[in-house]
Amino acid sequence: MIVLVKPGYLENDLKALKSHLVHTGFAIQETQGASQIVLYILGDTTRFDEKTLYAFACVDSVIRVQKPFKESQKNNAQAPRDFMLNNVTYHKKHPLIIAGPCSVESAVQIDAIAHHVKQCGAHGLRGGAYKPRTSPYNFQGLGEKGLKMLSETAKKYDLLSVSEITNKDDLPLFESLIDIIQVGARNMQNYDLLKALGKSRKTILLKRGFVNTVDEWLMSAEYILSNGNRSVILCERGIRTFEPSTRHTLDLSSVLVAKKLSHLPVIVDPSHAAGTFEFVAPLAKAALAVGADGLMIEVHDAPERALSDGNQSLTFKNFSHLMATIKTLVNAL
Ligand code: PEP
Ligand code: MN
Repeated sequence: MIVLVKPGYLENDLKALKSHLVHTGFAIQETQGASQIVLYILGDTTRFDEKTLYAFACVDSVIRVQKPFKESQKNNAQAPRDFMLNNVTYHKKHPLIIAGPCSVESAVQIDAIAHHVKQCGAHGLRGGAYKPRTSPYNFQGLGEKGLKMLSETAKKYDLLSVSEITNKDDLPLFESLIDIIQVGARNMQNYDLLKALGKSRKTILLKRGFVNTVDEWLMSAEYILSNGNRSVILCERGIRTFEPSTRHTLDLSSVLVAKKLSHLPVIVDPSHAAGTFEFVAPLAKAALAVGADGLMIEVHDAPERALSDGNQSLTFKNFSHLMATIKTLVNAL
């Protein structure tokens, strides 16, 4: 960390600042720059909130060198070498494909969808049972019953089950039924939930909040990793911008930024970003082209009758077509 001292500082104030830093456990190297004093602060600043230094009147600016996300950062010694699930390694040349309906609606529906996505080469079956809907009057999911349907169907087709948790009290239930526990965009900063998931040994799929920066997303991952769970997958799903023609704006740069800063795998959900089925396949291909490690796609046997997000769900035919294109695309990467 580097602290620039204001020209015209008061001697006593600078003394107080230095003594505060030493008491906090840092070493200081002081240099007289062309126009101001520069303090180089040496030591582990992970747990230090640099903004507190602005309380000293002599502080002009503070520049962080070390990123505050210690566990997720790229050069972390404990970083897993490969992104593996059930002994299968995934990466941009062999992307993890999770597909399924927005919500589990019935045993017949989830079975038909699982059968199709498996045939097309998907690895995971998604389906919400606890739905965080914007309106309390909309379908809220089948709860435990839906989670069991998803779990049984995923097992039947040898697919990884993926479902969203909204409340930490449901964790034991999810741990008994679900392979990959999803944290939705609306809960990315639900720190109690993240801490609880940090104690779990299940893989956590952490979606980016639609009003959150990449740094904030990585800090949320940090809550899970620093509590002991080393298995986290990031998922970009679009952010809110001033552009109203898509549901959200798919921020593909964030895949590059997150992969540059961290060792965590990053997948992309183009369905919730697009909000309309026509844009899903092109965005999915773009995501793989920038180096995403996988995709999460909403698929429905009858999108026009879906209880949630039918407008952005791919039909079986569209999903088959996308999967065939993906095979050619990843070979060309
Ligand atoms: C979902 O995947 O079903 C979902 C609600 O997504 P998000 O949290 O990204 O809105
Ligand atoms: Mn959805």
